Amino acid sequence: MKKIFILLLLISVPLYAQRRDFSGIDYISANDMLKTVEYLSSESLEGRAGGSIGYFLAADYMAKEFLKLGLKPGISNQIPKTTPYGNDDIQGRFNYKFFQYFNVEYNDITGPVKFNLINDNKIARKYKLGTDFICRGYTGSGYANAQVVFCGYGIADDEGGYNDYNNIDVNGKIVMVFKQNPGWANGRYNNYSIRKKAWNAYDKGAVAIIYVSLPNDKNPQKPIGSVMDGEEPHLSGFPMIHADLNAAEDFVLKTRYTMKELQTVIDEKKSPNSIELLTTAEIEINAKYKPDAYTVNVAAILEGSDAQLKNEYIIICAHLDHVGQQAGEVYFPGANDNASGSAAVLELARAFSKGEKPKRSILFILYSNEESGLQGSKFYAENPLVPLENTVAAFNFDCVAYGDGITLGNGLSNPALWNLAKQTDSLYKGQSGNITWKGGGADLEHLYKKNIPGIYFVTTNSYAHLHLPSDKPETLNLSLYEDITKLAYLIISRVADGEYQKEEVLK
Ligand SMILES: [Zn+2]
Repeated sequence: MKKIFILLLLISVPLYAQRRDFSGIDYISANDMLKTVEYLSSESLEGRAGGSIGYFLAADYMAKEFLKLGLKPGISNQIPKTTPYGNDDIQGRFNYKFFQYFNVEYNDITGPVKFNLINDNKIARKYKLGTDFICRGYTGSGYANAQVVFCGYGIADDEGGYNDYNNIDVNGKIVMVFKQNPGWANGRYNNYSIRKKAWNAYDKGAVAIIYVSLPNDKNPQKPIGSVMDGEEPHLSGFPMIHADLNAAEDFVLKTRYTMKELQTVIDEKKSPNSIELLTTAEIEINAKYKPDAYTVNVAAILEGSDAQLKNEYIIICAHLDHVGQQAGEVYFPGANDNASGSAAVLELARAFSKGEKPKRSILFILYSNEESGLQGSKFYAENPLVPLENTVAAFNFDCVAYGDGITLGNGLSNPALWNLAKQTDSLYKGQSGNITWKGGGADLEHLYKKNIPGIYFVTTNSYAHLHLPSDKPETLNLSLYEDITKLAYLIISRVADGEYQKEEVLK
């Protein structure tokens, strides 16, 4: 390993420059990171939904760790807002100087929750929360006991387009629709959101909605925890669930179709095939919705060692939030998504503060509410804590501990940075593939729009447990996790020491 670093130094550092001591890499260990991941994904934090107490506890834990490493809070002169406990604890219990506050909607699914098949006014089948169905993150509360009507993709295009609600009466009924959008509509309905489908059903008089995954997909999506419901207003009295296809089949038994056939008929004709299913469902959801809960990004700064370069910044970031819990029965640990990225950020903070200091300054930031639409990173890009013009590059970590390889994303936006990253990898272990992309991606998107170059670290084939209750620490690939974090350390060291000059990002 030493040889590799010497080679790296000879190639990369001009002779007159002082050689970096890369020994900070020895502070990076999968076992350290696993401890952080285990805490963040523990049941006590209830899935870290932005706006929840569990998220605040996670944020405070990370702030305390940054403090222990001697990092400076990212926010000077912070006036504490509130915490999930009200105002009584802002005198020191929370490390609020590391907190960048903003408002988000937050839906606490308190329960009870139920979903049953009803036959002759009796429960014929009880479905299990977490496997047979999952509540949508921003579901409303309510009780429905009604006939189920299948309404295709749930689209109501009143401007002469495709309309699943033509010629069907859903008044007082429960609507079942595909969660995803049709692939044959030339992109016209690509951004048709979960809430838009709920509003369509509600506007036609329906009393609840059941989303099902496309049965003809190669691997139909299981019911997942998700707060990505779209920007439409909250529908407070309207239950929204995502049912497993096996459960959905029970409801179409009395028709002459299977779920697969229902999709095929619509897709082949590219026209609606909405039908009454002649079966009854019972759905109950209880949730407490707050339109303007507080949440925070967590920010800490390590000052650079060079008198000049310390005025330039590197961002090392990850999202800390996940998709919460439901009814006290099911929670989403989010070990890979994204306790792994958050713990990697902390580990890099450890390596850079205990090993040789970087010449440029580093802002470590953990975002809230990635899961509901990149709100934390968007808030940061619009309210930066260090000047954007002095921000040289950003490195994002999202799902970095599951799978079988390394992907260095967003390379096409900034080829010089990507080349430096690829070259570093080839001198290290050569684990990264050539797949990359342009435009940022997830939490790099809003920084990309502000012309900040960046690399998106993600492991390859990372998403087998994505948003499932099974995304647990014991599933992680620890050696790969350590490799990708160490590779990141080598790449970021070179950038932080001035080997890379900020380039114009490609649009
Ligand atoms: Zn996610």
